[in-house]
Amino acid sequence: MSVSSPPVLQKHADVPVMRPLMPPAETLLPYLRRIDASRVYTNHGPLVREFEERIARMLALPASGVATASSGTAALAAAILTVAGRATPARSYALIPAYTYVATAMAVEQVGYQPYLADIDSTSWMLDPMRLADHPSLAQLGVVIPVAPFGRPVPQAPWLEFQARTGVPVVIDGAACLGEIVERPALYVGTIPLAISFHATKGLSTGEGGGVVSTDTDRVLRAMQSLNFGCYGSREAQSMGMNGKMSEYHAAVGLAELDGWARKRLAFQSVAEGYRRAAAEHRLVGRFFVTPEIGMPYALYRCRNLIEAEHMQQALEDAGVGWRLWYGTGLQHHAYFADAPRDQLDTTAQVAPTLIGLPMAVDLTPAQIAHVIAVLAEAARRFE
Ligand SMILES: *Cc1c(COP(=O)(O)O)cnc(C)c1O
Repeated sequence: MSVSSPPVLQKHADVPVMRPLMPPAETLLPYLRRIDASRVYTNHGPLVREFEERIARMLALPASGVATASSGTAALAAAILTVAGRATPARSYALIPAYTYVATAMAVEQVGYQPYLADIDSTSWMLDPMRLADHPSLAQLGVVIPVAPFGRPVPQAPWLEFQARTGVPVVIDGAACLGEIVERPALYVGTIPLAISFHATKGLSTGEGGGVVSTDTDRVLRAMQSLNFGCYGSREAQSMGMNGKMSEYHAAVGLAELDGWARKRLAFQSVAEGYRRAAAEHRLVGRFFVTPEIGMPYALYRCRNLIEAEHMQQALEDAGVGWRLWYGTGLQHHAYFADAPRDQLDTTAQVAPTLIGLPMAVDLTPAQIAHVIAVLAEAARRFE
């Protein structure tokens, strides 16, 4: 047997499904030097405060409307603590959609809840507050967490109504929706806390990071306390907490990212526009999704059925086009959540395997866009 394996030949250059681009080192340097000078490295230092102020301004909020966190998951756990506290024996469930990233379920477990998996609506891909208003397990729910799927923003109004009707508090997992909510903060930012993620794979990033956002600044302050061991303004722990703080180093990345944000956003939007135009030419409209319908870092194609989905996945493989089912086939299919209490998950079962994540990046070239759409169109043709 030969020691070296033969080179792998590819019919096309690979188009990766996601290829984040963070600010280059030289743009971080001025911020890193400020850290050197201040010798403040974490614990809500000046760079974190500046980052929070700039995010707040984007969302038309006072600076106290944003609390940064070490991750979106930590932000979500802290937001749950502020509206619902930790789980109690009587209210031990956190109702979440089965169709989400595992982080949603991990965050609720961190603060003591058992995830209860509910189904999504087939067109919004979100929990439907109307359908949940008379849910049989309502009395056992400590909190409900609608998720912004692929960054598609969750409006506040129907959930405020749900809260008022049921008395069950709500937190929104809006991990990937920041780029979209800035267009209409009045619809998407309100008293219901919104947890966002600044992970490298999301639109606006600090590498790892997150934030709690709300017009209810008392709640934001309590989230900040939870993210700081339950302490605020003193060394006394006053509530359940964790170390969920953002460091000055992550804020430095975030500030450099904000300096280039207008350009990065435009780049995402122009790739999305290129995709949209190509999709229209190939009559894929209605099945193909990019920003502003969903979050900037995603492109999605919705297959008609499982047979088309299997065929499509193979076609993408063969053509060197990266793809992913970002939320797998639902949380119920993760070994760890196999026994989670749940409703019938018919829509999740139908949507999850057929909604395919496609390549998206700020520097996706027109040729790559054309290639992806051509592969989709060719594979979809026989299912028309
Ligand atoms: C990314 C993501 C999270 C987790 O955010 P992290 O910053 O990675 O902890 C939670 N929920 C959803 C829907 C996400 O997409």
